[in-house]
Amino acid sequence: MKERRIPAIKDGTVIDHIPSRDTFRIIRILNPQEFKYPINLALNLDSKKIGSKGVIKIDSRFLTQSEVNKIAILAPNATVSIIKNYKAIEKIQVKLPEELVGVLNCTNPVCITSKEIVISKFKVLREEPLEVKCHYCERVYGKDEVEIKRK
Ligand SMILES: [Zn+2]
Repeated sequence: MKERRIPAIKDGTVIDHIPSRDTFRIIRILNPQEFKYPINLALNLDSKKIGSKGVIKIDSRFLTQSEVNKIAILAPNATVSIIKNYKAIEKIQVKLPEELVGVLNCTNPVCITSKEIVISKFKVLREEPLEVKCHYCERVYGKDEVEIKRK
């Protein structure tokens, strides 16, 4: 069934199958304050796949690979569709890599990454529920604890 609750967009990006509770976090990752065009979102839509989902439609903007990877951290079941002239010309199933390099901040104050300029590195232990481990201090973080870099 087509989602009709949010207006269709002519060109842009649709992020679907986001857990409802993580929809605002995903919007924040995308730095919406820098957008020049409308963003529409809906929450608490029924989803056979994940129960309650959110959908984000972004007008006239396409995501970078790095942004798609960040979405995978919070929404491993999300799909990202590229819309051109009201049609989805490409549908990407997001995928969480085994290792996240330069994507997350380690918030452990004694971790070397908080003292020196070191590119962060996390190993993905589990996708759902998310569990990642800092390569340097070995602290393990869950989904609600991870701090995703904005840039
Ligand atoms: Zn660390």
